[in-house]
Amino acid sequence: MAWRCTGATNAELVNNLFKHGIFHSERIAMAMNKADRANYVLDKAFAYEDSPQYIGYDATISAPHMHAHASEYLLPYLKPGAKVLDVGSGSGYLSAILYHLIGGPSGTQGKVVGIEHVPELVDWSIKNLKKDGLGDAVEEGKIIMVAGDGRKGYPQEAPYDVIHVGAAAPTLPEPLLQQLASPGRMFIPVGTTSQVILQVDKDQYGNVTKKELMGVMYVPLTDRFNIQTFARDSE
Ligand code: SAH
Repeated sequence: MAWRCTGATNAELVNNLFKHGIFHSERIAMAMNKADRANYVLDKAFAYEDSPQYIGYDATISAPHMHAHASEYLLPYLKPGAKVLDVGSGSGYLSAILYHLIGGPSGTQGKVVGIEHVPELVDWSIKNLKKDGLGDAVEEGKIIMVAGDGRKGYPQEAPYDVIHVGAAAPTLPEPLLQQLASPGRMFIPVGTTSQVILQVDKDQYGNVTKKELMGVMYVPLTDRFNIQTFARDSE
């Protein structure tokens, strides 16, 4: 269904995602229109295809409909000034969208921390963000891209109002739950051969509830030393 969302331009892709009901909010349209997916792919010919694309190092940039779904489910917590952790930040594309979603009147811009275990991808994502007009946000530390094992989260900047996980964990990693704010929401694919998106909510008293949103197929959240493919075919 969602594969029909492919467009000839970034604006057309975003409009198709909206028309097919993947997201409903004007705020998401604004954020996705500000981030040009062509700045986050290896081959621009496929930039506006609604499919995952290989970015090297066993990783893919997820399909735009999954980024739109994640933004939609996380939206109530993506308020001006919010703090976000993007685990498995890969290309940096979703980090950019999330950054635009937590912007507000001057002085209320929130902060996005992207954590990715392939250092080469961290460097590449910073280049991509700069190409996409977010150089100042990176320089000012409003977007921080760090190399590390995302299963452990990034306690230095915790707690997070929102945690997005872009790779599937066999079970919900305890450190991520601990680093979720009260209240806060996490969007995480969980499972191995069969996976579901779990929406994990922590209320203001610290009570945790989990809801299964949909079946998915994500690359696994792994150990860095298990990566098989280091070289890229093209850059
Ligand atoms: N959301 C990103 C990438 C999705 S692919 C995008 O759309 O561009 C999942 C990413 O998770 C890959 O870049 C992979 O390298 C990373 N990853 C896998 N295991 C990880 C771990 N333990 N810690 C941090 N990142 C991890």
